[in-house]
Amino acid sequence: MTRPLVGEPMALDLVNTAWVDQGAWVDFFDEPGGVERWLAEHGLSPSPGAREPLIATRTALRAALGGDDGPLDEILSRGSRRPRLRDGKVHEEVVADIPAWIPAWIAAADLVRLYGERPERIRKCANPACVLWFYDISKNGSRRWCSMEACGNRAKTVRFQQRHRAPGS
Ligand SMILES: [Zn+2]
Repeated sequence: MTRPLVGEPMALDLVNTAWVDQGAWVDFFDEPGGVERWLAEHGLSPSPGAREPLIATRTALRAALGGDDGPLDEILSRGSRRPRLRDGKVHEEVVADIPAWIPAWIAAADLVRLYGERPERIRKCANPACVLWFYDISKNGSRRWCSMEACGNRAKTVRFQQRHRAPGS
């Protein structure tokens, strides 16, 4: 199963593990090994029981992106960052009452980080039928699509057809 968009910041990359393909939702975490692969991509070790927290967090992230912070708050309250010194060097570890929630908590906190940096660069793909999110790191901030191939070109084709359709047809 190939995800349509990868490489976004962790929080959005989690949101993008579920997408709509030909009108139906596809879930990367339904694929055997999907959760482990996603964790490895983000430098996290395989963690038993991480799947359900990740799925709950994905739902909460989508809600937060839509303006409802409540579910994300609930997830953020499950863990915290704890500063440490190790041989005179600064370390920070994430702790949670239930260890299986640690990867999900890190992804949830990542969305807060993005809002703290450039919230206006957190965007949904401009294709109304597309459910993917991205963080626009382009210099002029003009990115509109998850990808030009998947959604940008399709939109251009539609506009072209609308422009060139004879009146009344
Ligand atoms: Zn798209």
